[in-house]
Amino acid sequence: MQYRSSSYNWIDKSLKTIHRANWYRSPKTINSLAGAEIELEGQKLINFASNDYLGLAEDDRLIQAAITAIKTYGTGSTGSRLLTGHRQLHRDLEIALANLKKTEDALVFSSGYLANLGTIAALVDDRDLILSDIYNHSSLKSGAKLSGARVIDYKHDNINDLSEKIAEYRFQYRRCLIITDSVFSMDGDLCPLPQLIDLADQYKSMLVVDEAHATGVMGKTGAGCVEHFHCTGAELIQIGTLSKALGSLGGYVVGNANLIDFLRNRAPSWIYTTALSPADTAAALAAVKIIAVEPERLHQLWRNVTYLKNKLSDIDKINLLPSESPIICVGLKNPKQALEASQLLKESGIFAPAIRPPTVPTSRIRLSVMATHQICHLDRAIASIAKLASLFFG
Ligand SMILES: *Cc1c(COP(=O)(O)O)cnc(C)c1O
Repeated sequence: MQYRSSSYNWIDKSLKTIHRANWYRSPKTINSLAGAEIELEGQKLINFASNDYLGLAEDDRLIQAAITAIKTYGTGSTGSRLLTGHRQLHRDLEIALANLKKTEDALVFSSGYLANLGTIAALVDDRDLILSDIYNHSSLKSGAKLSGARVIDYKHDNINDLSEKIAEYRFQYRRCLIITDSVFSMDGDLCPLPQLIDLADQYKSMLVVDEAHATGVMGKTGAGCVEHFHCTGAELIQIGTLSKALGSLGGYVVGNANLIDFLRNRAPSWIYTTALSPADTAAALAAVKIIAVEPERLHQLWRNVTYLKNKLSDIDKINLLPSESPIICVGLKNPKQALEASQLLKESGIFAPAIRPPTVPTSRIRLSVMATHQICHLDRAIASIAKLASLFFG
């Protein structure tokens, strides 16, 4: 139903424009447990659309931890941590995250999005400069805007462009902050972390890396890209989520103790919002503990990633986008083609979303690999994509 007053007419026009451009999106309903196989609107599908890389969102230990926390503390956390008090679970989770990341301390937020907003807004203001990778996640971009700092985008993963811009603008401002995804969420490639750390050091700048898709996934122990690049202990600020490989909901920041202490006093999206629920906190804590003692999950994930990438790259004329993570993208010509490809995959039992503008500049099918995919799942995806190839990549 439409609003009667003409003040709202523009909404209908905007929706029509979104439809015409093949940009329209709406969520679909899953009627099963999270996992490698799901039931989506009555259809059984192999799931390549999930960020639950280690398959922990359906793990009974997380489920039991959440139930126990609810029975002990109730469903809601009833207020902000500073005003209402927190539970020991919140601190236990923060200490476990700091241990995983080998940092002094950690702070958990209600989501990764809020962790980025609050941290960036606390670190810089209108006297300061932010240099931001053009492909950064929406939450980093929104945090930059919220901070009031001057924001300059640099070309994706392009150290030369960043060097030129930082040299030109750095010293017109008080503080400087470089922000980047570590695993780029819609592409699956990595930021050039060692060079970014050097450049930040050279120009007296801070560096925030968003490890949302890296935590539990990258590095020998699953600590993230910082571990992957052997940069553990470097001077930087790491942000991440509890909602992807950790199978729960929430976000975090890790770094030195004085940074965390400062954020507890200055990050508005932490101070003025309700603490993470007991269930989410307990599930995330259980996940961090499992990651530490079951490295075979990580090995299984990477075995699957290597298998799928190798087989897909053998398909004639396929446009595989560069990736060094479990996120694998097949490039397509336009939004319409990406939608058709996603629909055809769905008909053959594969759930892999079309990613289109405005999320990314170029349309694609995006596959996320999980540790709990079996080889037969991967083979089904490979066969279906090979069939698409003859239709679309010719
Ligand atoms: C998913 C994601 C977030 C947001 O995390 P949520 O906990 O889902 O709010 C932030 N940054 C990146 C790079 C992400 O991929």
